[in-house]
Amino acid sequence: MTYEPERMTAIEAVMKACSLCQAIRETCLPDEVQEKEDHSPVTVADLSVQAVISLDLSEVFPHDSIAAEESLAGLGDDIKEKVVFQVKTFFPPLGTDKIFAAIERCTYDGGSRGRFWVLDPVDGTKGFIRGGQYAIALALVEEGEVVLGVLGCPNLPVNLEKPHGSRGSIFVAVKGQGSAMRFIDDHVERKIAVAAIDDFSQALFCESFERAHSSHKHAARIAEILGIKKPPVRMDSQSKYGIVARGEATIYLRLPAKKGYEEKIWDHAAGWLIVKEAEGEVTDIQGKPLDFSQGRTLSKNYGVVATNKKLHPQVLSAIKKVYETP
Ligand code: AMP
Ligand code: MG
Repeated sequence: MTYEPERMTAIEAVMKACSLCQAIRETCLPDEVQEKEDHSPVTVADLSVQAVISLDLSEVFPHDSIAAEESLAGLGDDIKEKVVFQVKTFFPPLGTDKIFAAIERCTYDGGSRGRFWVLDPVDGTKGFIRGGQYAIALALVEEGEVVLGVLGCPNLPVNLEKPHGSRGSIFVAVKGQGSAMRFIDDHVERKIAVAAIDDFSQALFCESFERAHSSHKHAARIAEILGIKKPPVRMDSQSKYGIVARGEATIYLRLPAKKGYEEKIWDHAAGWLIVKEAEGEVTDIQGKPLDFSQGRTLSKNYGVVATNKKLHPQVLSAIKKVYETP
């Protein structure tokens, strides 16, 4: 399978979502942020992107299900009206009911059978609000395995060392075909690969900006054990998988900060494939492969570690040391 129609549809949908997010970021925030039932924020962008990508996918693949993060439950009429306004800029004739149905159809439970799409419309909503990093993350899962991943990172500097330079990268991977990156305003795809670094003194690691999502304290101890000299890059969203896949960061650590939290499949599916196909290694912090066949969460896994194949075993043993001596 080449997945060419799926790849093209996913890239186009993610590019559209990137421009929608950028437009909303410039015009609407911060007064349009609402709190969900779990107290995490949601914006017009999260819901509008979910609608637009759901509509795009159903045009080309009407029989595919979608497991996505957002729903309209508990949201006020004001935000819903703004979502309708935004979505209509892409689908002018569409009625409100169809727009809401497109959002609400994304409740698929996932699992090990058949094929379905996995979507985080705005991954790293807190970063989006803060003016930091966020990503539109879309993946296709078949028989419990991720086969296509597209990550749109509109605010990601093209070169991390030039934070004020141009921004916006799209990462794409298809199972067995490698990973590629294109800049947001350019359709040329370049193959990417993880850093070949085999010496921790040269390594750069990244972690969540939010310490509630990944333990900064444990990461600092692991970095010390490994002899990592550089300070961590703290960044929201799956952009972290992107910078590891293109070799700018060497290691991505996601160290559970809250007991019992199960990682969501939409926070990892696209990024996981992009690093794997860039010749990297991604497992949970106990060294287990990420299992996307368990439903909407990675219930069989605990945290995440992504790096190159050479460093991966040593990172795992440093993690083990830290967790064995709390
Ligand atoms: P990041 O931007 O990498 O910190 O990850 C953002 C994602 O973290 C959100 O999309 C949430 O689904 C997820 N998240 C929320 N709470 C937690 C938690 N306690 N531990 C790990 N991830 C979380
Ligand atoms: Mg997310």
